[in-house]
Amino acid sequence: MKNNSYIRYVSRQVTIGGVFIGANHPVMLQSMTKTDTHNIAATVDQCIKAFDAGADLMRISVPDKRSAECLATIKNKLAAAGYHQPLAADIHYSPALAMEAARIVEKIRINPGNFSTTPDRSSSVGIMKTEDSTAFQENLRHKLKQLIDTCKVHGTAIRIGVNAGSVPRADHHHKHITEILADAGTGYLQVFESLGFYQTVVSLKTSNPATTAEANLLMIKRMQKERMCYPLHIGVTESGNGISGRVRSALGIMPLLIGNIGNTLRVSLTESPENEILFAKSLVSAGKRLLASLPGALTGRFEQKSPKEYPPDNQHGVDIYSDAANTDDLIADVAGQFVCADSRQKPGHITISAPRLSNRSMADETARQLMQHSGSKSTDTEFVSCPACARTQMNMEKLCAVVKKELPGYPNLKIAIMGCMVNGPGEMADADFGLIAAGKGLVHLFKGQTLLKKNIPPAEAIATIQTMAGETMARQGRPPQ
Ligand code: SF4
Repeated sequence: MKNNSYIRYVSRQVTIGGVFIGANHPVMLQSMTKTDTHNIAATVDQCIKAFDAGADLMRISVPDKRSAECLATIKNKLAAAGYHQPLAADIHYSPALAMEAARIVEKIRINPGNFSTTPDRSSSVGIMKTEDSTAFQENLRHKLKQLIDTCKVHGTAIRIGVNAGSVPRADHHHKHITEILADAGTGYLQVFESLGFYQTVVSLKTSNPATTAEANLLMIKRMQKERMCYPLHIGVTESGNGISGRVRSALGIMPLLIGNIGNTLRVSLTESPENEILFAKSLVSAGKRLLASLPGALTGRFEQKSPKEYPPDNQHGVDIYSDAANTDDLIADVAGQFVCADSRQKPGHITISAPRLSNRSMADETARQLMQHSGSKSTDTEFVSCPACARTQMNMEKLCAVVKKELPGYPNLKIAIMGCMVNGPGEMADADFGLIAAGKGLVHLFKGQTLLKKNIPPAEAIATIQTMAGETMARQGRPPQ
C-alpha cells in the first residue's frame, strides 16, 4: 500500500463495565480463555493468571447454553477473588446465546455475518447499494434488534469481529480481501447505528500479517469517509506459537501501533493467555517507543507502510540493532524497526545485533522468521494455528508441536492447525493443507478447502501431507529441505 498518510485517528470512547476503551485511553490488553467454559475452576484460574500478567479484559467462549449459564458463576468467583476486570463473551451464530451473555458480562463479541439467514454469505454486506445487500442489511437489522435492545438495557458493549474466513465468498472474485473486510465492517456499523447503538468496537482480522495491517488502515479511511470513529480491536488470527507466531503477530500489529492505531489488542497465540498478554505488553511498549521517535508522531501525520509493498530484491540486507534483553521484547522491537525501515525492497537477509540477549540463537531465528513471514524469503514450512478456545476438544499446543516436528522443510507450503469445525474451515481457507481437531484425539484433513479424510489419527494426516507435498515438490524439481 503506497502513499498512505493518515491524520492521527482518534476514536470515540466506549464504556466496558467500569473502564473505557478508545479516545485517548491506553491500548487495552486482552486475551481469551482456552478452557472448556463448563469447567468453571479452570476458566477462573486462566482468567486470574492472565489478569496477574496484565490483562485488562478476558474473553470467554460461549458455544452453548450451559456455557452462558456458567458466566455468572465465573464472574462471581473472580470478583470474590478480587478481580473486577471486565469480561467479554465470544458468541457465534446464536443471537439467543448472545442475549443471555449480554445480561451478565460487560462486552460480547459477535460476527454479525453469521447471524444472517443467508447461509452461504454470498451477498455483500458492505456499504450497501444493491437490492440484495439492502435485503441482507434489513434482515440483519431484524436479527440484531432484540440483542441490541438487551445490550442497551444492560450497558453491554459489542465488538463486531470480522474475519477473513467469514466474509462473503462471492466478493472474493472481484474485490481484494482488504476491501471486503473493510466494506463488511462499515456495513455492520451502519446497521448498528441505524438501531441507535454506538457502544461498538470493530475488528478486521486475517492470518496474513500484511493483509491484516492493510485492512485496518483501509477501515480507518472508510470510517472517516462515513463519519464514524469506532475503537479498533487489532490482532492477527491464527498466528501460531513460538517465535514464528510472535513474528507473524508483530508484523501485522506493529505497522498499526507505530501509526497510533489500535485501541485494544489481542495476540492470538497457541499458548497460554498469560503468554499472549506478556507479548502484547512488549508490542505496546515497542510501539510507543517507535512512535515517539518518528517525526510523524509530532505532526499527527504518518506515512504507513506494510512489508508486503516492498518489491523483491535479494541483493541488499537489513541490519537491526536492539537493546532488548528478552525474546518477546526483541521480536516486538525488531519487527517494529523492520516495518519502519526506509526501504522499498524486500531484503535478501536480516542481521540482528542484540548484545543484551543471552541466547544469540533467538536473534538469528527471529531474523529468519522475519524473512519468512514478511514474504522476503521462505526457507521453511509456514505453520498457522488457532489459539484454541472452549470449542476445541484437543490439546492444541501438543498437536502443533507434533505437526511442526514432523513437517518442516517445505518452503512455500502453508499448513493450518485448527481447533474446531465451527471456524476452522473458513479461517484456514488459504492454507495448502489443514488439520482440524475432531475430538477423541482424531483430526479431519483438508487439502485447500477440500475435505480429504475424516476422523483420522494425526500421524495419518501427517503422513498423507508428507506424501502429497513431497510429490508436488518432486514434480517441481524441489526436494524438501
Ligand atoms: S478455530 Fe475453533 S477452537 Fe480454534 S479458536 Fe477458533 S473457534 Fe476456537
